[in-house]
Amino acid sequence: MRSSSVSLWQDEPYRPRAPLEGEARTDVCVIGAGVGGLATTRRLIDAGLSVVVLERHEVASGASGRNGGFLIAGAAPMYHDSRRLWGRERAAAVHRATLTAQRELLEVAGSVGARHHFRVGGLLRLAVNADEAGDVRANAAALAEDGFPGQLVEAGDLPAPLARPDRAGLFLPHDGSVHPVRWLRALAGVLASRGVRLFEHSAVVGPPAADGDGVRVRTASGVVRCDRAVVAVDGDLAALVPPAGAVRPRRLNALATAPLRRAVLPFPVYARYGHEYAHQTADGRIVLGGFSDLDGDASWTARAEVSAPVQARLDRWLHEELGVEAPVTHRWAGVVGFAEDPLPRCGPVPGTDGRVLALGGYNGTGHVQAWVASRVVADLVVTGRSPSAGLYAPVDA
Ligand SMILES: Cc1cc2nc3c(=O)[nH]c(=O)nc-3n(C[C@H](O)[C@H](O)[C@H](O)COP(=O)(O)OP(=O)(O)OC[C@H]3O[C@@H](n4cnc5c(N)ncnc54)[C@H](O)[C@@H]3O)c2cc1C
Repeated sequence: MRSSSVSLWQDEPYRPRAPLEGEARTDVCVIGAGVGGLATTRRLIDAGLSVVVLERHEVASGASGRNGGFLIAGAAPMYHDSRRLWGRERAAAVHRATLTAQRELLEVAGSVGARHHFRVGGLLRLAVNADEAGDVRANAAALAEDGFPGQLVEAGDLPAPLARPDRAGLFLPHDGSVHPVRWLRALAGVLASRGVRLFEHSAVVGPPAADGDGVRVRTASGVVRCDRAVVAVDGDLAALVPPAGAVRPRRLNALATAPLRRAVLPFPVYARYGHEYAHQTADGRIVLGGFSDLDGDASWTARAEVSAPVQARLDRWLHEELGVEAPVTHRWAGVVGFAEDPLPRCGPVPGTDGRVLALGGYNGTGHVQAWVASRVVADLVVTGRSPSAGLYAPVDA
């Protein structure tokens, strides 16, 4: 097994943009071209600011192009747990914000000609045993109490490969899946056509530094001078922004099979509290991720190396749960930012006079949550305030 690999999504021809050479001046420098950096960039140029994006590798080369391809609203915990952890009001505000962001993201995808890279037909949160079924029922009840969508599915109504007597599910009609790399490459292309200067293979070295009234951001071959810098590097957050030490890098594993001729999963499935997740792509492949909890201490790393034991466990799940024997064509890992609370971080970086802002730490559920955080950060850059500033945790919490 190769130790580091290309995800299914990234396995397509691509011509990278040139690196930054020399000096560039701009209103805002965004570091990281994943969903968080690109969503923030879009909001900033909509507000009339000029933006330079610096990306260490390529657009969607981090977790945004190495995930399972799920488009999920809500926070990492089940909703009743979010209420217990953060209080009912905040949990509801987070959930509402993700539903709004999910809709907005799909509208933006439409406007950049990328809507067809999404499939939105609902997602099943599957309880794999009686204990978890209790939680899924509590989740369903809490969502219903607060007026959010979600429909309980009893064991007999589960899709055939997943049906077992002690199981239950919760169907969330707003969720779905996405080809994340096609979507984000399309978004980046439109941003570039609107004047964003996007430099790839341009790793930022060291935290953005004060520079007169502004900020200086350095790469090996260039420097960006700007009024504000936004750090959107999720799993690498604490490396570039030391006050964000509560966000720790963690690797997650996934695989994809060759296309199957038969339909196995009618919709994406999120099982065992989201530890396992699988869906079938438009061309019939099964994409499956999970078992990060079996990865133990080794999972706490900033290196996107596949884990042989986790991949072997994924193989077993594929055979035993789904009855799929198709060959596996892609195995990959990606690094995400994990915080114990588990709330994402966003806002000003302490000690920078509000000149450096950061977002990240989505605990492996960042596609929609980064979209939410990008609004907070862009509002703060543009107006100095955000109505959603208290939604997530401060960068140094
Ligand atoms: C296997 C797996 C499964 C997942 N499943 C889901 C899921 O089901 N649903 C969901 O919503 N989310 C899921 N996620 C998480 C989701 O992919 C992330 O939360 C999200 O993509 C984070 O986006 P981001 O833009 O903040 O970070 P990233 O996509 O990681 O982007 C950060 C970018 O910053 C760049 N960078 C880092 N350091 C520097 C530097 N010094 N200079 C310049 N650039 C730098 C990186 O190269 C990278 O491109 C999963 C992730 C993985 C790995």
